[in-house]
Amino acid sequence: MGIRTIEQLRERLRGEVVTPSDAGYEDARQVYNAMIDRRPAAVVRCAETGDVSAAVDFARTSELDLAIRGGGHSVPGFSTVDDGVVIDLSGMHDVLVDPERRTARAQGGATWGAFNDATHAHGLATTGGVVSTTGVGGLTLGGGIGYLARGVGLSCDNLISAEVVTADGQSLVASDRENEDLFWAIRGGGGNFGVVTAFEFQLHPVAEIYGGPMFFELEDAGAVLRGYREFIVDAPEAFGGFPAWQIAPPLPFIPEERHGDTLLAFVACWAGPADEGERILKPLRDMGRVVAEHIGPMPYPALNSAFDALYPPGALQHYWKANFVSELTDEAIEAHLEHGPKVPVVNSTVHIYPINGACHRVGPDATAFAYRDATFATVIAGMWPDPADNEANIKWVQDYYAATAPLSEEGGYVNFMSGDDQDRIRSNYKGNYERLVEIKRKYDPGNLFHLNQNIQP
Ligand SMILES: Cc1cc2nc3c(=O)[nH]c(=O)nc-3n(C[C@H](O)[C@H](O)[C@H](O)COP(=O)(O)OP(=O)(O)OC[C@H]3O[C@@H](n4cnc5c(N)ncnc54)[C@H](O)[C@@H]3O)c2cc1C
Repeated sequence: MGIRTIEQLRERLRGEVVTPSDAGYEDARQVYNAMIDRRPAAVVRCAETGDVSAAVDFARTSELDLAIRGGGHSVPGFSTVDDGVVIDLSGMHDVLVDPERRTARAQGGATWGAFNDATHAHGLATTGGVVSTTGVGGLTLGGGIGYLARGVGLSCDNLISAEVVTADGQSLVASDRENEDLFWAIRGGGGNFGVVTAFEFQLHPVAEIYGGPMFFELEDAGAVLRGYREFIVDAPEAFGGFPAWQIAPPLPFIPEERHGDTLLAFVACWAGPADEGERILKPLRDMGRVVAEHIGPMPYPALNSAFDALYPPGALQHYWKANFVSELTDEAIEAHLEHGPKVPVVNSTVHIYPINGACHRVGPDATAFAYRDATFATVIAGMWPDPADNEANIKWVQDYYAATAPLSEEGGYVNFMSGDDQDRIRSNYKGNYERLVEIKRKYDPGNLFHLNQNIQP
């Protein structure tokens, strides 16, 4: 007999259930994107794997929609649902480091901030997100792009094993040796296959990096983008970083008279020997006139939280679009130059992340993440404070996307896509799609886990 009522569920949990009649419900239903305003029937704050199994059982037996929340950053709002059940993993946030084996075990609700702090204490790191409040869960399951990707691969490439609660409520280990098909699918296939309660990662010796943001004159943006295109082809792999359209925020290192100007930023991260940093970054710095920069040695977690203040949880409306790019053509750069300078607010941006280097050494069918020949993953990230401005900001993203998508690959990175991108799922996975469908049929034939970029069984 499955769990049929909230009362039965409560009896089975070490964590708690928050329903609309409970104090704390307003807080419990919050997610990162302020545009998402959903009212779940129950938010299950899980404390252990058994709680996750019980909540899965309850949702399946009661035929309620089920959302999984790791860090809650899903822009389309996949981690909450009206009238359904939310499995909130934020209480399961421990990160344990084994410095001897150079591995870390993160619970399913850990954030990259907690992860980086824990591993940095041992001079170790792996690829994670560029904002510290993003969840390890959603980011890794979709692929995982960050400063270290060119050197050590995507986050999912560094996954050694995972513990997964599947649709029948069982907890399975997925690795190269156990449930290999599931392990293949969760490295890029998103939250389609189950709830990951723990991730085990390979770590690498990275403590201090040399880098930070520099801001170029808008008139030099074309030269910088063209220079970046050439530079990134054979830049040493310990170099990561990306250009970004950015209205200059009122930061102390930017001349006051330039605050509010639209500029082309470049955020650089050199994770190789510190004394080589200046030399490695020089060609970039020489690509245009630098208005301001804040470059130097810093702890790896510091760079990964340096922009947190621009993206406060729950305070911004979000609408994003994305594409993979194999070749950043002159025509594509012209499209960026037309739309980038129209970036409407200080929080909005466009990042052109490099995903060559180590990411290319993994075969296109070795994990679910298929775009192993794309050089860049572009995200057009609309983020703005006032809902009254929704129309104008969404239009900026859509116009930008309309101009650049035809000059890009068909697919995009699932973690950067919108809720209105469901018709692009097949393209995101190219040749891996059919196998994903097969594995979905095996582990989740009823599509219990459908609040994601959904692979239908
Ligand atoms: C400010 C910001 C910065 C970002 N920066 C980066 C970046 O640098 N690199 C990058 O690659 N991406 C980045 N992203 C995108 C990010 O990868 C996705 O938003 C991702 O889904 C966030 O994961 P989460 O756990 O925080 O989200 P959630 O909203 O909790 O979950 C997102 C999806 O993943 C599923 N999921 C989450 N955790 C689990 C779990 N433990 N088990 C099973 N399913 C789970 C959910 O069901 C949902 O479908 C960023 C997003 C934001 C908003």
